[in-house]
Formats: sequence, C-alpha cells, structure tokens
Amino acid sequence: MRNFSYLSLAVIAIFLEACYTVPVTGRSAFIMTSVAQEKALGLEAYNVYKTNSVVLTDYAINNRVRTIGQRIAKIAEQDTPGMEWEWEFTVFNDSQTANAWCLPGGKVAVYTGILPYAKNDAQLATVMAHEIGHAVARHGVERMGTETMVNVLGSVIGSSVSDANSEAVMAAYGVGSSLFVTLPFSRDDEYEADRIGMNFMARAGYDPAEAIKFWENFMAAGGSSVPEMLSTHPSDANRIAKLKTYLPENEELYKKAVGK
Ligand SMILES: [Zn+2]
Repeated sequence: MRNFSYLSLAVIAIFLEACYTVPVTGRSAFIMTSVAQEKALGLEAYNVYKTNSVVLTDYAINNRVRTIGQRIAKIAEQDTPGMEWEWEFTVFNDSQTANAWCLPGGKVAVYTGILPYAKNDAQLATVMAHEIGHAVARHGVERMGTETMVNVLGSVIGSSVSDANSEAVMAAYGVGSSLFVTLPFSRDDEYEADRIGMNFMARAGYDPAEAIKFWENFMAAGGSSVPEMLSTHPSDANRIAKLKTYLPENEELYKKAVGK
C-alpha cells in the first residue's frame, strides 16, 4: 500500500511538472519536454537553418527588427520566468518569402519578403509578437507529440541533431523553406498566438489596433502569390473577429504603456 502511494505521488509529480500554464490566456498545456530540452532543440535547428540561408547585412533594417524584437522580448520575459531566453533577431535576405518565425530559446527570424506588408513599426511588431506568442505558448513541442520528441531527444542526448530531426523541430515551429517540410499551426494555436501577441505588443507600447489592420491586409493579399506565412499560419474569417474582441482590453494596456 505504501509503495503504491509513493508511486502515485511520483506519477502526480511528473504530471504537475508536465502542466504548463500559457501566459496571457492561462490555458493549461500538457508538455512532456523540459524547457532546457526544448531550448536545445531550438538552438540546434536554428544553427542548421542559418547555414542554409542568406542573412541580410542592411544595418537600418536589422536595427529596426532588433529594436522592435527587444521591446517585445522584454514583455515576454516578464510573463515567462524560468524560460531561459537567449534572444536573437535575424533578418533573412529573401524577398520571395513572406514569413517569420520564432524557435524555442528566442531565435527569431524575419524574411525581407514580409517587410512590404508591415506598413509601420506597430505592424512589424504584430508579426514578431505573434511568432514570439507561439514560442511562449510552446506550441511546437506541444504538437510535435511524445513519439517524435522521444526520437529527437534521443539523438540530442546521443550527439547532435540530425538534419531529419532539425526538420521535425522546424516543421513544428512553422519554419518553412524549400529545404524543409512545413506543418501548419492549428486554428486554435493561431488564435492563442494572436491573443498573446496583441497583449505583448500593447504592453511594449505599440498600438494593438494596427494588428487588425495588418492581418486584414495580409489575408487580403492572396491571389496567385499567397504569402508563405499563411500556409504555416492558417487563417479564417473568425480570426479578425476574434482579434477585435481582444482589442478593448489591449487598448487599455497600450494607453498605460505609453502614459496616456
Ligand atoms: Zn501563427
């Protein structure tokens, strides 16, 4: 009987450790991967990715992206004690790719192809805060599933991540390129990242109303050249409606942040 109780306690302890409360939304997520393991996967995948991509050297654009990113990152850190962020903001010189993503550990990428869609800093903050929202909510490891995680972690512990495993990690975080398969986020993940993103941008001093303008314009872009981000971040008509419901509370946060 006593052994049984100890066993039960151990099971409960593992379960509690695996319960992650998502900032802003307060949703309970069941995640078997530790933050340290998740971060190791993110960093490995990021390094593999960077060696296959062209990094932009334009100082003004890099500086703009980094400045916005750091403001969002500061807010994200307030809500995620113990997440061990090592922020890095990279602009990839690829005008054909309208995309952005954030890997665990805080490795953020913005492609030059998405810049024409972001008409001002608040709209670029919308994109970056949304991607950081996915990472903060740990959507990638949550949807990779236990089986994939066990395989991937096996090789991380063994030596380094193989290309195939990096591919799995990147696919899970919406990192798309001609080299790698992409896996779309679920609609629920999208709503959650939108909600977290709008909260973070408002607290960082960016007008959250610009988020609605950005997504309206971006989703309308369509035609024959659907921006890549829309294939990894599926949208529907409800998305804008939901964004509008998040607006009033975030306008308050924004006013407080900018001292109005
Ligand atoms: Zn998304």
